[in-house]
Amino acid sequence: MTIKNAGLIFAGSLSKREKTTAIILHHAAAQRCSVQEVHSWHLSNGWKGIGYHFFVRKDGSVWQGRPIDRLGAHAKDANSYSIGVCFEGDFTREAMPAAQLAAGQELVSYIKRKYPGISKILKHKDVCATTCPGDKFPFSKIASGKASGASAAAGTVKADSNCTVYAHPTVSASRAATMKAGTSYPYTSVYVGGDKVKWYLVRVGNASGWVSENALHGCPYAEPRVTVYKGCPRGDNVKWAQWHLVHAGYDIGKSGIDDRFGPATDAAVERFQRAKKLQVDGRVGPATRKALKEAVR
Ligand SMILES: [Zn+2]
Repeated sequence: MTIKNAGLIFAGSLSKREKTTAIILHHAAAQRCSVQEVHSWHLSNGWKGIGYHFFVRKDGSVWQGRPIDRLGAHAKDANSYSIGVCFEGDFTREAMPAAQLAAGQELVSYIKRKYPGISKILKHKDVCATTCPGDKFPFSKIASGKASGASAAAGTVKADSNCTVYAHPTVSASRAATMKAGTSYPYTSVYVGGDKVKWYLVRVGNASGWVSENALHGCPYAEPRVTVYKGCPRGDNVKWAQWHLVHAGYDIGKSGIDDRFGPATDAAVERFQRAKKLQVDGRVGPATRKALKEAVR
């Protein structure tokens, strides 16, 4: 379980919570927000800072809010005995992405292991007059604290060469484990990301994390021998560049890895070149190809 720390600064000291018998689940009632934003909203309420102990984002990242042993400010009359977990999103109107659901399940299990005295997992609306966390919030799946499909693995995956398992379904996440070539590992969940890349939630020894379908089998396209650029001929040369951009964490637009070098691919190349301090010209020549290979490895 990786819990990210945003380095939030609280306006004054937070008192210790005397007992811990419940976890209370919330939504942010905002479709897009970060832990820092929620912290600033709560500061502007005149509170000492974010009222929740944890914040779970749609990408599956889990953020520390108040320290886990301190008194929260998230459910009037229930703060004295509970840990508050908030999920990015507005679940009166949207469904929860798979990565966020899996992270929520893992977090609930983690908190229960840390506090064996927890006997109840509640929705905010169970203790206060509110609609939080919304009718579309997958409460029973998260409250059970395990991946949907119970303990049985959904299947196994095998990698052609050693490959990295990430803490979240994106290659910009931290490394959680390494899968060895030719060994089968169980997975419990599948997530299809914005670029239509399929990710598996795998267990590697005591660790678990996400591996992409393409990483398991390496880039299926041969490296181009020519420079590819916006409007160049279609084909596998373009797909090679797109595959590497996606696996380096760069969004190439809705159509994903097709073989057309359009404006979204061009913009992704330029963002990549800027990040790698290469000449920013949108052209995938030898220097950019070398950097792309390094970024994916
Ligand atoms: Zn709430």
